[in-house]
Amino acid sequence: MNPDRSMLTWQHARELILGCATPLGSEVVELSASAFRVLASDLAATRQLPPWDNSAMDGYAVRVADLHANEPLPVVGTIAAGHPANEPLPPRATMRIMTGAPMPAGADAVVMREDADEQQGQVVFRKLPRLGQHVRHAGEDVRVGSSVLSAGSVLGPGELGLLAALGRLIVPVHRRPQVAIVSTGDELVTADEPPQHGQIVNSNAHCLLALVERSGAKGRILPIARDRPEELKRCFAEAFASDVVLSSGGVSVGDFDFVKQVFTELGAKEHFFRVAMKPGKPLVFSTVEQRGQKTLVFGLPGNPASSLVSFELFVHPALRRLLGYPAAQSPHPVATVRLSEPIRPDRERTHFTRALCTRSAESPFDLWARPLAQQGSGMLRSLVGMNALLEVPPGEATLPVGSELHASLLGPV
Ligand code: AMP
Ligand code: MG
Repeated sequence: MNPDRSMLTWQHARELILGCATPLGSEVVELSASAFRVLASDLAATRQLPPWDNSAMDGYAVRVADLHANEPLPVVGTIAAGHPANEPLPPRATMRIMTGAPMPAGADAVVMREDADEQQGQVVFRKLPRLGQHVRHAGEDVRVGSSVLSAGSVLGPGELGLLAALGRLIVPVHRRPQVAIVSTGDELVTADEPPQHGQIVNSNAHCLLALVERSGAKGRILPIARDRPEELKRCFAEAFASDVVLSSGGVSVGDFDFVKQVFTELGAKEHFFRVAMKPGKPLVFSTVEQRGQKTLVFGLPGNPASSLVSFELFVHPALRRLLGYPAAQSPHPVATVRLSEPIRPDRERTHFTRALCTRSAESPFDLWARPLAQQGSGMLRSLVGMNALLEVPPGEATLPVGSELHASLLGPV
């Protein structure tokens, strides 16, 4: 039960956000610029692969019916890759053939070189081949007209190799969302300025930019916005032209937290404010429609750990949806892990604990999670080297060593 009714569960918050996120329109890009983009339509093959029958081995192209154990055959030519034979294979003869070279007409198998003895233009085979042995048949990999990739596929190395082989020089992909990163706060200075007393470096912008780029979207850091409604308004009016706005700070209940109010004044519709989670309770999600374009607006909390955790739980899945990934796909694998140290849950909110997951040496399928020290939401150290967010549900009792929990795996384990 959630005792504070104005707070959503994190699952409900994520559902609301994903309900507002639909894949962006498509654009056509060159194959060489399409790595890790998401395909916007189904693609069918206009060529077959392999294009012609060819040898899978260095060896001898033969006609199986011509072969008898220990009977030599004359070698009447050599077929190299890229150099098809001009003549068919004559009766009762063989041709040397290299891997990837087209089969000569009339040949129906290849004997590998390791199974042959050639002397003075005659070859004897130690093993007789089956019909079709070591032949890669035209179209056995891909048939003309067959569907090769479906919309929503990510163009990874294998997909790009396939598209290149099929001669697809341009591909339709979803547009990458443009993400404007706005950091708010009178205390903030850029990383190249020495902070005076009372000032801190705007570290969130750099952290968020890396998170955005890792998701596949395009990030842009806007100038720091001071805690004054007029300045915030000017800054967000510009940011609202992007597909997504990530603002950090100024969404809590402080005297100078104007971000929420400014979103509304600029015409954004607020979907929720506050989620029953730790870190990251204050979180505003709004949408704004301008000139037929919808912008997702996230007012993330200012504390570094809060903004990072909120990004992974809410922004990352939304960006993936805009990028065209299938709706049901989560950005992170979720695993069941066991605690290597006890944890005291929060009484009311799900605690997303930054942790280091490792595999057990004895049984490598078992994952153990060690909560990192310094879980304070303002602490930067616990963000370094973490590879998992543990989902610790609200509760009273301490969870002992060995307790099972769900973890989102953010990095290799
Ligand atoms: P706020 O959400 O604005 O109340 O800020 C909460 C805490 O996060 C304060 O200690 C801020 O100084 C800190 N903070 C806010 N914005 C940033 C930022 N861009 N980078 C690092 N820390 C920040
Ligand atoms: Mg602030």
